Amino acid sequence: MALHTAEALILDVRDLHDRDRIVTFLTREFGKKKGVARGARVKHSRFGGQLQPLAKVAVTWYEKEGQDLGRISSVELVRTAHPLQTDLEGILLGSYLADHLLEFSQEGEASDHFYRLLDSTIQALLAGVDRDLATRYFESWVLRLAGVFPSPTACPECGSPFPPEGAMLPRSGEMLLCLDCGGPSGFAVSPAALELLRRIGRESLPVAAERAPSRALLREVEDLCAQVRRYFLQHELRSYDVIQRTLAKV
Ligand SMILES: [Zn+2]
Repeated sequence: MALHTAEALILDVRDLHDRDRIVTFLTREFGKKKGVARGARVKHSRFGGQLQPLAKVAVTWYEKEGQDLGRISSVELVRTAHPLQTDLEGILLGSYLADHLLEFSQEGEASDHFYRLLDSTIQALLAGVDRDLATRYFESWVLRLAGVFPSPTACPECGSPFPPEGAMLPRSGEMLLCLDCGGPSGFAVSPAALELLRRIGRESLPVAAERAPSRALLREVEDLCAQVRRYFLQHELRSYDVIQRTLAKV
């Protein structure tokens, strides 16, 4: 039995039986981990209100070799994400961010980049950065870190830099092609969207927020990321479907 302590971001909290909760959390050193917090559903539990989605915590847990599910012995709150989750849009956004890492980060594999991305995105959101831009920044960086993000600079087929007219994402594919290689069908990507993707690649979120892109441009980047992500995962993130349905009703 091994005992570990690490700083973590809580991705998911689920009820287990009458008394316990299963907590999935992301650490730098060990990647994604899952553990049982015994008694966490009971009144006056020692876990109290610490098991909040997207909270940054110091967590200590026991792990038995060959078992996926550890046993959490203590959780101390380092930074709450509660101010983000006071309205429906914020709650949906929070589960969308967490969903990405539940899907893309690996269990037991160091995840320093994913950890820093989620940590800095939450920090920027708490500081009041535009939610729409923060979400586009986050989703495109997740794809980048997962190694599936298409290059926003040059066509991988012919090697030529993208011309001023923009690029094309083929319907069956996750690579951006120039208009010659991509052919007429597919998803057109504007030069402004390519430029925004290049900026996201080199600027921190607070810097990117200093020159806020238009809503139309953010929608274009959202659609592009969603298509690349769907193609890679072969399904849509559940939280994204929920967001789409909820927004359609508003
Ligand atoms: Zn080409």
